[in-house]
Amino acid sequence: TRRKFIAGNWKMNCSRSEAIQLASAVVASSEEKESAQILICVPNIHLADIGKLAVNSHVLLGAQDAYWQDSGAFTGEISISMLADYQVKYLLVGHSERREMFANTDEIVAKKFAGALKHGIKPILCIGESLAQREQGVTFDVLKEQCQAVIDEVGIEAFADACIAYEPIWAIGTGRTATPEQAQEVHHSLRVWLAEKNAQIAKNLQILYGGSMNAANASELLAQPDIDGGLIGGASLKAEDFLKIYSVA
Ligand code: 13P
Repeated sequence: TRRKFIAGNWKMNCSRSEAIQLASAVVASSEEKESAQILICVPNIHLADIGKLAVNSHVLLGAQDAYWQDSGAFTGEISISMLADYQVKYLLVGHSERREMFANTDEIVAKKFAGALKHGIKPILCIGESLAQREQGVTFDVLKEQCQAVIDEVGIEAFADACIAYEPIWAIGTGRTATPEQAQEVHHSLRVWLAEKNAQIAKNLQILYGGSMNAANASELLAQPDIDGGLIGGASLKAEDFLKIYSVA
């Protein structure tokens, strides 16, 4: 059986002191457990501080994005190899905010996914359809295309060291969560599609749901057979809310 995976995506939030306070509370107020893993994806500038306080704990450290080249003339970027120096274990790749606002194409996302694996960091591939795409009935085509670009780059076997996060764009930050049935339908279809490529990989792959998940709706979502966790934005900024989600996983 797959372990649940509760992942916080802080996005561009928290001052230095707020970040230390929030991470400390998450570390101090939760315990390691069999049934679930817990991860916080923090702004890069806070990695050093938070790495120090999470290093020997059960709370995993993640980053939200990085550039795929190891070094060079890429002003303003940081590389995945740099992240590896800071106890970073997971990297979000292809978050819809990176795709939409920072021109992360499927090809770039695939390179980042490959780069993370190269440095021993597990990528969390974020995929999701817009409201217009859902209404046009092309949701699953969009998701397959987003996955296929990565599969073409690294092969399906590489997903043994990765996760997928399904985040319908219309549910992100809107308070409009996908219903458990809507999310389950997508997760199940994805797993069936992946199983055609490699049944074992598909069976073991953690597929997380993201989009307005919170302490009130988490248990219903996590009860679905193909929802293996959550990628949580807003509700990960309050230790109490985030830990409540972890407690039901
Ligand atoms: P919210 O939980 O704030 O809707 O954000 C979801 C998300 O984008 C996580 O990556």
